[in-house]
Amino acid sequence: MPELPEVEVTRRALAPAVEGGVVRELVVREPRLRWPVPAGLAGQVAGRKVLRLERRGKYLLWRFEHGTLISHLGMSGSWRIHPGGAPPPGRHDHVDVTVEQPQGGSVLRLTDPRRFGALLWQRGGEQALRRSALLARLGIEPFDPRFDGGFLHQHTRGRRGPIKQVLLAGDLVVGVGNIYASESLFEAGIDPRTPAMRLSRPRCERLAQAIRAVLARAIETGGSSLRDFVGADGRSGYFTLAAQVYERNGLACLRCGRAAIRRIVQSARATYFCPHCQRR
Ligand SMILES: [Zn+2]
Repeated sequence: MPELPEVEVTRRALAPAVEGGVVRELVVREPRLRWPVPAGLAGQVAGRKVLRLERRGKYLLWRFEHGTLISHLGMSGSWRIHPGGAPPPGRHDHVDVTVEQPQGGSVLRLTDPRRFGALLWQRGGEQALRRSALLARLGIEPFDPRFDGGFLHQHTRGRRGPIKQVLLAGDLVVGVGNIYASESLFEAGIDPRTPAMRLSRPRCERLAQAIRAVLARAIETGGSSLRDFVGADGRSGYFTLAAQVYERNGLACLRCGRAAIRRIVQSARATYFCPHCQRR
């Protein structure tokens, strides 16, 4: 499913077409997403200027002066840009947003075969957005300068669960999905089964650095993790091809060359690690 890097790649691809533009129309063909698309949404945004396109966790935020259009890609969603106009919609093309810019208009099209994505409206400014039910409980952004070893150390005291699951929970730090959790723990040399509260401060430093490095690399290479994910500009992502441990079970570890990568299941999610390089 699309994870933070995919959403950030999407944001960067859409921003030039969206930011500073005026929404000419918003067409909803299928309101039955994870939550119903609000009936009055088109009226909220028509004729209004998009100030900025932001991201918080896996939410894409179309910031207007009077509110925010909140989009989530769910399991299979993607946004595509169609400069000048979109082709006839397919059966999974649920929403079109036409945005006018001085240099011409584009149609931003939301496609979501499994319909676990979302498109919602939050009235008001920054405060209202931060307090909204969807965003209020999200952990810190991994690229926030306050996210470091000290933060990770402080916020894992008292958390007895395995560090892999604590990362996945998203209430401590957002964006470390299943692939990125395995990859980050490998890079930091930490066994994914280690109780979070047992991690020393230096290991927390290494883990925070690894999380940022792994996510930054994924964003750089275009983001991927859904096999059929297609970026906003039509290119596929590549991240899984560069994975060090994810889905490499049985293969030799790329770091030590000695041990075979193991696959275990934690809370119904697959975890991959090197039993030699990663220690409790
Ligand atoms: Zn190894």
